[in-house]
Amino acid sequence: MDAEFGHGQGSVSLRWRRSRAAHRAGSPADAPSGGRRPPATKGARRSHAFTEPRWRLRRWPPEGSPGYDAPMPLTFTASPLDHAGLKRTDPDWIAARRRDPSARTILFEKGDLALDANGDPLILHPDNAEEYALDAVGLVFLGVIGETPWFAAAIEPDAHGARANFRGAAMKAEPDFACLIGRARSILAWRGRRRYCSNCAAENAPAEGGLKLECPGCGMEHFPRVDASVIMLPYAGDRCVMGRQANWPEGMFATLAGFMEPGETIEEACAREVMEEIGRPVVSARYVASQPWPFPSSLMIGLLAEIEEGEVRPDDDLEDARWFTRDEARALHDSTIGRWAPPNFSISWHLLQRWLDGET
Ligand SMILES: [Zn+2]
Repeated sequence: MDAEFGHGQGSVSLRWRRSRAAHRAGSPADAPSGGRRPPATKGARRSHAFTEPRWRLRRWPPEGSPGYDAPMPLTFTASPLDHAGLKRTDPDWIAARRRDPSARTILFEKGDLALDANGDPLILHPDNAEEYALDAVGLVFLGVIGETPWFAAAIEPDAHGARANFRGAAMKAEPDFACLIGRARSILAWRGRRRYCSNCAAENAPAEGGLKLECPGCGMEHFPRVDASVIMLPYAGDRCVMGRQANWPEGMFATLAGFMEPGETIEEACAREVMEEIGRPVVSARYVASQPWPFPSSLMIGLLAEIEEGEVRPDDDLEDARWFTRDEARALHDSTIGRWAPPNFSISWHLLQRWLDGET
């Protein structure tokens, strides 16, 4: 699998799952990484900074709240954003949203969230956002929440410095904010890689607030891409199979996953991936849920896959794959046996939860 695609890479997500002590003590994602201060704003232009609690980064659900120990809804789903697909084709409408005093821009740097001096996400009016050294993409329209227009932009690498690791930030963002930054990250990543037309190499021109690119050379239109992937928990009777890649944190096992290929259905992709990864035939597969996954722009299509009993043979991508009894899987899910599942930030954890709850 693509390294960007993996489950819960890195120690940040691991600490979050493993121990509340570490959780309270903070993780690398909690601390701004330092760097230069934001530049002073020019002239007499008023600075519009937006730092209301809803858009701050904090543990979610808040520790001590009734929902603290409950499974969260799937992160990056149920977005409050209206993408305004019918209105954004009008350049005048986009320009008016850009001038709206309530308009907000989320600033990124190197795929992470840029932070202000207080360690909060840097959310500014577009006028103020454009006073930073933005990369060539510039402002991208995300959509509206009520009457409030939202934009995103990326600061040139290392031009700002204070930032929060995106994965860690998304894990502790309020669900609505996680949706905003997830969409923003995927679109900015796409724009950053599509400056030039893939057909004729002319420089693309943005349209629809930057959510579409038009080539002046050959007329081709380019749209943000979504990479469809299947992610599945294989099971037979009272046992399931999980695997791990060599570069994952020690002890972590997860569902299997892979990109879909042209010419196959979701179920066929599931069967192919299971056969490739562990050498077991799929008897039946059932769709459970999907999750946008902004690393950089996948859609994870989650399934429970009934497979034939028998020996599991991990392919070269997997360091290990093995059967887990229901009790072992429960212990893995609860991180009580020195092994653990990915954090409940990911659909992988939810698939395991659903199977443990008796779904097949
Ligand atoms: Zn072209």
